[in-house]
Amino acid sequence: AHMNENKEFVLVGGGNAAGYVAHAFVENGIADGRLCIVSKEKVAPYERPALSKAYLFPLDKSPARLPGFHTCVGSGWERQTPDWYKEKGIEVLYDTSVSGLDISLGTLSTKAGGTIKYSNLIIATGSTATRLPEAVGGSLPGVHYLREVEDADSLVSSWQEASKVVVIGGGYIGMEVSAASVSWKLDTTVVFPEKYVMPRLFTPAIAHHYEEFYKSRGVKFEKGTSVKKLVAGTSGRVARVELTNGKVIDADTVIVGVGAKPNVIPFLQAGLKSLEGGIQVDGQFRTSAPGIFAIGDVAAFPLKIYGRTARVEHVDHARKSALHFANVLTHKTTDPYDYLPFFYSRVFEYPGSERKLWWQFYGDNVGDTVEIGDFNPKYAAFWLVSGRIKGVFLESGSPEVKFLCCCFFFGLCLS
Ligand code: FAD
Repeated sequence: AHMNENKEFVLVGGGNAAGYVAHAFVENGIADGRLCIVSKEKVAPYERPALSKAYLFPLDKSPARLPGFHTCVGSGWERQTPDWYKEKGIEVLYDTSVSGLDISLGTLSTKAGGTIKYSNLIIATGSTATRLPEAVGGSLPGVHYLREVEDADSLVSSWQEASKVVVIGGGYIGMEVSAASVSWKLDTTVVFPEKYVMPRLFTPAIAHHYEEFYKSRGVKFEKGTSVKKLVAGTSGRVARVELTNGKVIDADTVIVGVGAKPNVIPFLQAGLKSLEGGIQVDGQFRTSAPGIFAIGDVAAFPLKIYGRTARVEHVDHARKSALHFANVLTHKTTDPYDYLPFFYSRVFEYPGSERKLWWQFYGDNVGDTVEIGDFNPKYAAFWLVSGRIKGVFLESGSPEVKFLCCCFFFGLCLS
């Protein structure tokens, strides 16, 4: 399919940031006939965090399914179904993968052989889950990765037949998927090389609390070791996991959550400047080429509050970078993006669960920590450098506690 007419705004990527750009374009009256979204996915943009949370509830606990969680329901705004895009005059090219960019011609090429001509380009291609090499068994049937709705569907269909599950990685994905897996009453073991879960964020005390809670729900941990090989059984499906510590765990389903890489190859090959593994942008999301912008996971932007460049692979930034970009474009602001990093997670929250866990984190986890509370149920940690607060972690506080901590944080940060 050759598409030769020039499009004013072309957005590559149909994920979280894309949905919020569409929302902002409509709010500003600049969507109709002017915005075209090119997405590798077959469905309209959705709130991706749901894929490792409500999407994975047991089938009798009303799991989330599309169209339930299209953007921007995560912000309490309109649910933008495929019909919404049609009504608003936003063209969405589904199932279309962009494979090349020619900056001098102002064209994108698609994997299927098409050409798309743009006046302004917005890159919001997000990330891809890191795979284990094929030689290690990373592509065997029964081995799953989790990034898109098709991945979640495939995992759910495996779980319907599964009995022994191994989760590789003790980060976000590993923690959320293993919580879901035991909610399905599946024998679940989490394997990771570090000393404790979520080592890049959690303090030893937070990690201990989480690990004990998970164990009480039946999750087993194999810490300080990693995968040597995923081995197939006679059917060709994964049957066991061999660890570097010599142990062997039987498994009919394996989920790999060992990180993600930004989808930037065609854009860097075209000559856009790279930083932090992503695409370099300024405080207004402009890349090194005029008329080309990057937002969400792929953008390496000046993190003003900490005076350094950052790439943030979290949904709050995907949303806020999309909205800030639209505000710059419509001259609502000339300010650079001034972002306070915010991450969160929630587990065991299916209907009827005795107790759920959730945490929220604001800022930067650098310096010394001060910890308050005993997780019964509340807990807070503060990261301090030279007496100034750099980060706040909250566990299971009420909205009031959250509000107070935010005030405290801003008061001290900005003082
Ligand atoms: P994405 O939402 O990943 O969207 C990128 C889109 O681009 C996708 O539609 C993709 O198919 C498309 N695309 C990629 N390459 C091409 C191409 N070449 N051509 C066309 N289209 C392309 N963050 C949190 O803060 N809290 C959470 O609890 C949380 N949970 C998560 C759970 C899961 C399972 C995952 C995968 C992520 C989670 N995240 C969470 C991270 C968060 O979802 C991402 O940071 C956010 O989605 C990034 O938005 P984005 O628009 O930049 O990229």
